[in-house]
Amino acid sequence: MTTSIPYKIYLAENEMPKHWYNIKAVMKELPDPMLHPGTLKPCTIEDLQPVFCDELIKQELNTKDLLIEIPEGIQNFYKMYRPSPLVRAYCLEKLLDTPAEIYYKFEGTNTSGSHKLNSAAAQVYYAKEQGITSLTTETGAGQWGTALAMACAYYDIPLTVFMVKVSSEQKPYRKAVIETYGGKVIPSPSETTEVGKKILAENPGTGGSLGCAISEAIELMAKTPNCRYVLGSVLDHVLLHQTIIGLESKIACEKYGIEPDIIIGCTGGGSNFGGLVGPFMGEKIQGKNNIHFIGVEPASCPSLTRGKYAYDFGDTGKSTPLMKMYTLGSGFIPSPNHAGGLRYHGMSSIVSKLYHDGYFEARSVEQTRVFEAASIFARSEGILPAPESSHALKVAMDEALKCKETGEKKTILFGLSGTGYFDMTAYMNYNSGTMTDYVPTDEDLEKGFATLPNIPE
Ligand SMILES: *Cc1c(COP(=O)(O)O)cnc(C)c1O
Repeated sequence: MTTSIPYKIYLAENEMPKHWYNIKAVMKELPDPMLHPGTLKPCTIEDLQPVFCDELIKQELNTKDLLIEIPEGIQNFYKMYRPSPLVRAYCLEKLLDTPAEIYYKFEGTNTSGSHKLNSAAAQVYYAKEQGITSLTTETGAGQWGTALAMACAYYDIPLTVFMVKVSSEQKPYRKAVIETYGGKVIPSPSETTEVGKKILAENPGTGGSLGCAISEAIELMAKTPNCRYVLGSVLDHVLLHQTIIGLESKIACEKYGIEPDIIIGCTGGGSNFGGLVGPFMGEKIQGKNNIHFIGVEPASCPSLTRGKYAYDFGDTGKSTPLMKMYTLGSGFIPSPNHAGGLRYHGMSSIVSKLYHDGYFEARSVEQTRVFEAASIFARSEGILPAPESSHALKVAMDEALKCKETGEKKTILFGLSGTGYFDMTAYMNYNSGTMTDYVPTDEDLEKGFATLPNIPE
């Protein structure tokens, strides 16, 4: 009997990149800088230091280095669940009877169930290196809180998570997972912060929002010595960490001779989309490919397709730096029947700038269509997709069906950013036929736009 199988084959280490991809180093025009909310001048390292870890600030402001090395301490964490699989959806192709080839990059293979762990690990690692002694954050649907709790358990740092109140009530198991990993969960808005008390006084019955949970997390951070705040999307350094998705996809595509014609991702704050398409987009900017990129968002929270490209705050409490982005206004709260995640009012500055400069197409879809696609995928491919990811899936299916009409044999790659095990309330609503769609009217959107700050050009 031979026992000489080289174990490296199974580790597939060679397929895991050793660096992240900083698309700002190749963008023809950079996104407008983050502004200090008091002075309206571009944020400096010193402005950001009380809030974020030093290394993350460097990454946030880095516009020069295309490749940024992933420290070994983070690679060791990534090795537990990466590289993530690039899968060909043979069964879905057959079901749709399409000549197109459909591939998906699956980020749901870790316990937190989404790509968010890629940035959580990096952010907690740098906090630990800097000697930070506790972290705070917010979570909406719960994936970020879970991912961060996993990373904080591994690197041994205490964590407080402000969880949007409706989510903590609708998803008690998410909360339990965070607590199992040692995180402390506070439903937001809460009485533990001044901003929480204020929001509750103005709006006693509110189920909360991501924007208000962010304000509470920042306030706790400011009150706690040697504590930092971490954010799971939107910021440039988060997009940077997520480029491991796109780099791995490129390595797999090259290995198997796959040349995507279309790459599709869902867009909430823009991190999984930016991470998946980033390395391919960088090459498109350099004239090396002509891939068609599509970002997909909910019709009920349409920041790219119906938002304004303007400076706005990242949170409802208007305490963050100002970011130039596609936004619905920090006061925008999606309709309560919206179940599918992706409910943030704004969009990453990098993704916004690329969109503004015409590098990709954005589409919005209604949630019942999204869950219809999710059910078809679950039944044909076996994976129960996250509602967020199913936005991308829905458009991938639309594109495959177009190929059926035209007979074109396109190669479609979409990001399956996570699994939907904790979204069963939404699936139950869809299954029982009680799920409805709500598309905000122009008047609804005007209310959000009215909360935009007035920034002189
Ligand atoms: C958080 C999340 C998203 C949306 O966030 P982005 O920053 O836009 O990627 C998408 N899919 C899943 C599964 C998520 O958990």
